[in-house]
Amino acid sequence: MQTSFTLAQLADPEVAESEKILRACVHCGFCTATCPTYVLLGDELDSPRGRIYLIKDMLENDRPATAEVVPHIDRCLSCLACMTTCPSGVHYMHLIDHARAHVEETYRRPFVERVLRAIIAKVLPDRKLFRLSLFAAFLAKPLAPLLDLVGLTPVAAMLRLAPTKIPPPGRVNPCVIPAEGERRGRVALLTGCVASVITPQINEAAIRILTRHGIEVVLAEGEGCCGSLVHHLGRKEEALQAARHNVDAWMGEIQGEGLDAILVTASGCGTTIKDYGYMLRNDPHYAERARMVAALARDVSEYINKINKLMVVATPALVVAYHGACSLQHGQKITREPKEVLSKSGFVVKDVPDGHLCCGSAGTYNMLQPQLAMALRDRKVACIAKVAPDVIAAGNVGCITQIAGGTEIPVVHPVELIDWATGGPVPGALRRLVDTV
Ligand code: SF4
Ligand code: SF4
Repeated sequence: MQTSFTLAQLADPEVAESEKILRACVHCGFCTATCPTYVLLGDELDSPRGRIYLIKDMLENDRPATAEVVPHIDRCLSCLACMTTCPSGVHYMHLIDHARAHVEETYRRPFVERVLRAIIAKVLPDRKLFRLSLFAAFLAKPLAPLLDLVGLTPVAAMLRLAPTKIPPPGRVNPCVIPAEGERRGRVALLTGCVASVITPQINEAAIRILTRHGIEVVLAEGEGCCGSLVHHLGRKEEALQAARHNVDAWMGEIQGEGLDAILVTASGCGTTIKDYGYMLRNDPHYAERARMVAALARDVSEYINKINKLMVVATPALVVAYHGACSLQHGQKITREPKEVLSKSGFVVKDVPDGHLCCGSAGTYNMLQPQLAMALRDRKVACIAKVAPDVIAAGNVGCITQIAGGTEIPVVHPVELIDWATGGPVPGALRRLVDTV
């Protein structure tokens, strides 16, 4: 695509990078067919190509974001299916991230939206505040229909998404969980924010698998939210600050006893951490260290799949529908490993039809765009039902919560199944099912 940025505009490294991305697009439109919002809405402006044009127009003309453009940018899930499809290697992720930051800087949203986004940005990345807010959400749940009626649909969606049971807190950092037997490796595990509050059992399962196979696990001091929640809201500085905190935390371990990998059980967070090198590339104090951290980041399935001789004990050969989280399949290009390791653990793994399409979770999307998110969830649940699984496995807490809200079939993280298959407890969501097998 031809662009016409001035030299002065290109002096801004963000604009220069976006210009490169825009030039790579040959506007062939292949990406539209796999874009969930285009599939649902059929509007070119809600397709990757349409959004690329809108972003080009804003950036090239130094135009502030407008009420006409912002809804199309906001409706993008950042699912990155378009990146998988694109034959020209257009790095849509970095382009939409830049566009979101531009919207945040140049557009004043309606009051309710501003408040809502500010609350999300403050509460979700903070474990203590988030835990407290879940108690409040639990009490306010019956008000959801009323909030829908008065037009506060996103608040109603948040209440509906809040779990009815809040599990006891999992292990918190800092701590070191020693390997059982001879130590064969040493990894850091991201504790993070939301996942550690609503699904602490996932990291606990990962820790048991790793330590059982001789891997020491470190929850590094000072590590916390990866920054992706605020990043997707266009709050660039807050996202970079979160990234710097984590880089500091993990560098302490890398330069101390050393790390073989930094493992992440929430693939949305993993995609962001793997991008730390890019995010902090213009920060002279952090660029090099951010690159080192990003190079060590792995999805937990990548690492576990490489463990020699998984110590599998007998488990029922349940049929598992594997849902590939977008951040994992499109963001990190990891499609094989989680399924391989589930198969090695004795499960019968089935792909979900139309598996490239997002479930509608997408970070905070299911709160901010509840109607589209629901339509995608219902579509996903119907596709899953076609393979008649006993259980659904997804490698991202957002997808687990989203899909579980639309089906009676239990939804778990692959590590919960692998832990069970290698001698750990039955996953909580499967207890009733296992009693009847
Ligand atoms: S598939 Fe790639 S090159 Fe073609 S329109 Fe989409 S982003 Fe542009
Ligand atoms: S990231 Fe997903 S929703 Fe956004 S344009 Fe690409 S395919 Fe469409």
